[in-house]
Amino acid sequence: MARAVIVGGGGAGDAAAFALRKRGFDGDIVVVSADQDRPYDRPYLSKEFLRGEIDVPKVFLHDEAEYAKEGIELRLDARVIGGSLSERKVTLAGGGEAAFDVLVLGLGGTPRRLPELPTAPNVLTLRSLRDSRVLREALGRASRLLLIGAGFIGAEVAASARKLGKEVLIVEALPVPLQRALGREVGEIYARIHRDRGVDVRTGAKVDRWHTDGDRVTGASISDGTHEEVDLVLVAVGIEPNLELPKALGLPIEGGGVSVDEGLRAAENVYVGGDIALHRHPVLRRSIRVEHWEVAKGHGRGIAASITSGHTPYAKIPYFWSDQYDVSLEYRGHASGDDVAVWRGDREALTFSVFYLRGSIIQGVLSMNDPKTNELGGKLIESRRSVDPTALANPGVDLSELVGAGAT
Ligand SMILES: Cc1cc2nc3c(=O)[nH]c(=O)nc-3n(C[C@H](O)[C@H](O)[C@H](O)COP(=O)(O)OP(=O)(O)OC[C@H]3O[C@@H](n4cnc5c(N)ncnc54)[C@H](O)[C@@H]3O)c2cc1C
Repeated sequence: MARAVIVGGGGAGDAAAFALRKRGFDGDIVVVSADQDRPYDRPYLSKEFLRGEIDVPKVFLHDEAEYAKEGIELRLDARVIGGSLSERKVTLAGGGEAAFDVLVLGLGGTPRRLPELPTAPNVLTLRSLRDSRVLREALGRASRLLLIGAGFIGAEVAASARKLGKEVLIVEALPVPLQRALGREVGEIYARIHRDRGVDVRTGAKVDRWHTDGDRVTGASISDGTHEEVDLVLVAVGIEPNLELPKALGLPIEGGGVSVDEGLRAAENVYVGGDIALHRHPVLRRSIRVEHWEVAKGHGRGIAASITSGHTPYAKIPYFWSDQYDVSLEYRGHASGDDVAVWRGDREALTFSVFYLRGSIIQGVLSMNDPKTNELGGKLIESRRSVDPTALANPGVDLSELVGAGAT
């Protein structure tokens, strides 16, 4: 009987385990996770869970009985540190091995730290449920939060902290929030959204000097010449994909991830998904690495398809969302800085979409409070249909007609 070992109990790993069973895999399934908690819905950690609007067990993806019912063995608080692909086994920290016929890796990433930042009990990062518990408690006691970095985690925590009535200061090195993910113009809109809601957003800035009292950080001298007192700091400057294990196993590393084919396979009987996977996307026709929840879960399901049915290209278009205050962002596809942006809708009213085109082919669509356009945009991306940018920009043109139009 085949035995699947899944390393990582996050979005990709958990989805792979359940999808394997759903697709009729009848061998052993073992999920080995370094996390202390059973798999949970990570996006809640900067939003509803952090604000105390939901609690455990609601954050967990499944209750314990479901793992038992599906015959999925969970080994928590267990870290895989190496192994041998030819001998089909992985080794665990503290001794012990796990033999596999098929290996799945969904290892996620580790928050980056800033080398110049003091280690202090009120300087935190956010990735795990445990981190979110610690941040939630600290936020309850804090009155002024300093966020280093205005990417998605920083921006979402800023919104949550404002909702909890906290003073929030963001220090971001780039000219606008979310610039790397969403570009300059949409970043400017986010700067306005946060400022309008009382966040002190300092862009193009960095902390020059940290001030401490005992073991705690109490303030920061910022490069704009100001000094700010704070009682809690969250460092949200992105993640380093967890590549130590893939490297130790000799898997192909490329573009900051593990290179996998269209069917998410990295080597014979080894599949990799989620934040660490550099996936050759069959529809977008290039390799992409995406750090988003639905993509990780989709990879898990895609891996299960490849394991049970043989090589199966995973063709779903990447999708993610971010909720900040009453503003809901959705993004489908995968655009790059060279793509041409075509705007549709009303930016002042925060109800608009932006299409990103390479030639006449849409690569990505970003929507703010505009879900219908986002969905139709996703269909246009999937079709790889040639589109006329003036039609996209014209709110009088019904996009569903473009979706229905014959391929060119
Ligand atoms: C606070 C927060 C909010 C987010 N919000 C959103 C959102 O709103 N929308 C969105 O699209 N995305 C969001 N994301 C991103 C999304 O959660 C990630 O892209 C997704 O979790 C990646 O899934 P994964 O399976 O690749 O990794 P993870 O979910 O990180 O899981 C990795 C697992 O591997 C384990 N592990 C790592 N190394 C080892 C090892 N050597 N041995 C054993 N186990 C190991 C880890 O403990 C962990 O359980 C958010 C992320 C965070 C942190």
